[in-house]
Amino acid sequence: MRIYLDANATYGGLRDVLEQVPHLSGAVHNPSAIHSAGQKARALIEQSRHSLRELINAPQGDYELFFTSGATESNNLALYLPFWQALNGRKKIQDLEYVISTVEHPSVLEPAARLKALGAKVTLCAPTVEAMMSAVSPTTNFISLMYANNETGILYPVDLLLSEVRGLAPQALIHTDAVQVVGRLPVSLRDLGVDLLTISGHKIGAFPGVGALVVRDGIDNQATILGGAQEKRWRAGTENVPGIASFGLASRHHLEHLADNVTRMAERRDQLEAELCELGGVSSPFCHEQRLPNTTMLRFEGVDASDLVVALDLEGVCASTGSACSSGKPLPSTVLTACGLSEQEAAECVRFSFRADAEKQEVTEAISRIRLCLERMKEVEQ
Ligand code: PLP
Repeated sequence: MRIYLDANATYGGLRDVLEQVPHLSGAVHNPSAIHSAGQKARALIEQSRHSLRELINAPQGDYELFFTSGATESNNLALYLPFWQALNGRKKIQDLEYVISTVEHPSVLEPAARLKALGAKVTLCAPTVEAMMSAVSPTTNFISLMYANNETGILYPVDLLLSEVRGLAPQALIHTDAVQVVGRLPVSLRDLGVDLLTISGHKIGAFPGVGALVVRDGIDNQATILGGAQEKRWRAGTENVPGIASFGLASRHHLEHLADNVTRMAERRDQLEAELCELGGVSSPFCHEQRLPNTTMLRFEGVDASDLVVALDLEGVCASTGSACSSGKPLPSTVLTACGLSEQEAAECVRFSFRADAEKQEVTEAISRIRLCLERMKEVEQ
């Protein structure tokens, strides 16, 4: 039996989504067509938009919600908004000021690095309200702080950031990458009040290749992908209708089940953490932080995390390291080092992230397979 503990990488299709696949024949038409086949596809898109708005409490009139190819595109689109405004003549690129937290996903950090290379001032700062308050200025154009980190599960104070920072940087667009929070905890964009919010379909049980950017009403449309008039010209190109339909179905699932799922995920995570941390040399460096209910990053002292993940895979347990791969050589996660771990400690960390339907029995079985792998790895070493 394969045990899947890698939901933050991709959740895996929800049954409520997969069972509907035979009924999605309307999704293979062009939603821009005015004939009835096209209009069936259009209806699927609008139903999904409605469900997603409900899931994140982003009411029409306050926010626009645009479908994209995924959170990577949404994050890029968000970061390039001030850039296109500048190119359109309102400012010089050299006058653009970005404040970005150090723990962001590469789909925020990489465009930020490119913007810096193009002349923008980009300040990377610790993901705390204090650090961000001292990094921003009245001329800051863009601030990005993720809602929860994909590797550690740590939740960041996006709501506080807004109340504290808005006054200090009144012109800034405030963006949050909420990819890992949606479907794990309740999200209310109306309460959060950020200007831009990123979400991804496959992190909540929809198909991969679909995401959304939610934009506060009234923000200037500065699209990166140009062409047709789809998505009110925020994102040209024929929509990924099957993906968008699956996103809507997944949203409906979470709307119905989220409250129970939060408790269930936390129970599974706590079971895994408690039993593994009883073993010598296993610790949970972030257990005292405010965290997602489904995520734990465990440190196995003296164990190479990549080797453990491979050994676990051979035993049928899917988990992952936080490391990035460069020319075949794993590098310690910059998120973990930014969170205070040494490179050595970071290289010993494995992330386990749960789907809400993980059974208690599966976690018990995963623990015994993890123990087995650790014992074998020790034997090889001796
Ligand atoms: N942001 C976060 C926090 C993520 O965890 C991920 C995926 O790992 C992304 C963005 C990118 O998402 P997508 O695969 O939809 O492009």
